[in-house]
Amino acid sequence: MPDGYQGKGSRYHTVYAPDHPWPRKHGLIDEHVRVLELKLGRRLRPGEVVHHIDGDKTNNDPSNLAPLKRGKHTRLHIGRTPVQMELL
Ligand SMILES: [Zn+2]
Repeated sequence: MPDGYQGKGSRYHTVYAPDHPWPRKHGLIDEHVRVLELKLGRRLRPGEVVHHIDGDKTNNDPSNLAPLKRGKHTRLHIGRTPVQMELL
């Protein structure tokens, strides 16, 4: 399943992030987006989603998050693209 933050009906934990340089509306941001953007030192680009490397969407450790192009991410979850590591 796609786990991008732009999907409707987000299941993700949204946090108030006054420490984040690019908060979304009202200073709120999905936690995995916040963690990854702080790790990368940049904002996610259009078309990028946050992928949880170990498949555990509750594991928002920086080492478990990687940016992926939406289409590539979808293919990854369908199971046709070998491994996540190629994009790290
Ligand atoms: Zn994913």
